[in-house]
Amino acid sequence: MDIKQGNLLRQFEMFKDEYENKALEVLRSGWYILGKEVKAFEEEFAAYLGAKYCAGLASGLDALYLSFRVLNIGEGDEVIVPANTYIASVMGITMAGATPVFVEPDEFYNINPDKIEEKINEKTKAVLSVNLYGQACDLEKISGVCKKYNLYLVEDCAQSHGARFNGVLTNKYCDISCYSFYPSKNLGCFGDGGAIVTDNEDLYKLFKIYRNYGSEVRYHNMVVGVNSRLDELQAGLLRVKLMHLDELNEERAQIAQKYNNGIKNSKLELPTIREGATTVWHQFVVRTKDRDELVSYLAGKGIGTLIHYPIPPHLSEAYAYLGYKEGDFEITERCAKEILSLPIYNGMTDEEINYVIDALNAF
Ligand SMILES: *Cc1c(COP(=O)(O)O)cnc(C)c1O
Repeated sequence: MDIKQGNLLRQFEMFKDEYENKALEVLRSGWYILGKEVKAFEEEFAAYLGAKYCAGLASGLDALYLSFRVLNIGEGDEVIVPANTYIASVMGITMAGATPVFVEPDEFYNINPDKIEEKINEKTKAVLSVNLYGQACDLEKISGVCKKYNLYLVEDCAQSHGARFNGVLTNKYCDISCYSFYPSKNLGCFGDGGAIVTDNEDLYKLFKIYRNYGSEVRYHNMVVGVNSRLDELQAGLLRVKLMHLDELNEERAQIAQKYNNGIKNSKLELPTIREGATTVWHQFVVRTKDRDELVSYLAGKGIGTLIHYPIPPHLSEAYAYLGYKEGDFEITERCAKEILSLPIYNGMTDEEINYVIDALNAF
């Protein structure tokens, strides 16, 4: 068998006719940037999330970066961020000129909510929480800390479209929620795309200005903005996928349940979910001291895996200038050495799931 860690073609084939019809409709419309598809998607995605406003952008990274721009957070300011995250979370902060302040994860791989307060000082302006692998952070605690110290709460939902904490969609706890529609995300498009959602009308208006060269009215540029627009083709295709998002997330949950029930190997630690949190299973991450051995063993059986992520941001070459060294964030560094993401994708067959389970149990 040849099982990839992710397989985008399967999902496309599930709704092939709908995607192809929509693509043709947009191509034949003669309008490709900031038109009716983007407007409709923004309304539909905001409605899906119970948010007042959504602004389509060109990527998840832009959503993060522009969040700090519209909040006027930049040079001299600090933003608290999990040490255990994809490096784009951190880049959103540093592109805006602000300094990331890292916090170690808890056993759910998310920011440890009890270790945030000790990192707050007079320079702290915001917390960026990340719902890693699809699981909601403890947003009651995190938003409580933010309220106490009057900090903005921005969240990185690139992996968590639809996740909840205490029954409430994560975005309801936050000032701004940032989404990526990179093809492999739960709500992925067929190229690059991103968006923010917020209930704050002033912030929403600023995103619309910043994404379009800083102008609301053509040729009247109010700020030095960027070109960061979700295009009509991607927005149209996202409208198709959004209609199926709940069933796609449910399918991931079923694959995860089969893994959870089927994998029985004392060498492997299975993922756990925090009480009150839900996950949309962007990844199914196991943990083992024999990680590198497991990778080659599974590869030998035709099973693809990935490590999310092998080098923590504080040890990345890009952030050498921050001056961190090995040992500064030991929990994060241990994760990077022991975690492994198993195959999980929409359209994964029972035969494939069982093959992976049997291989893991024989390891
Ligand atoms: C994918 C991802 C991003 C970046 O999104 P892009 O659309 O690729 O720019 C940011 N944060 C996390 C946690 C991600 O997984």
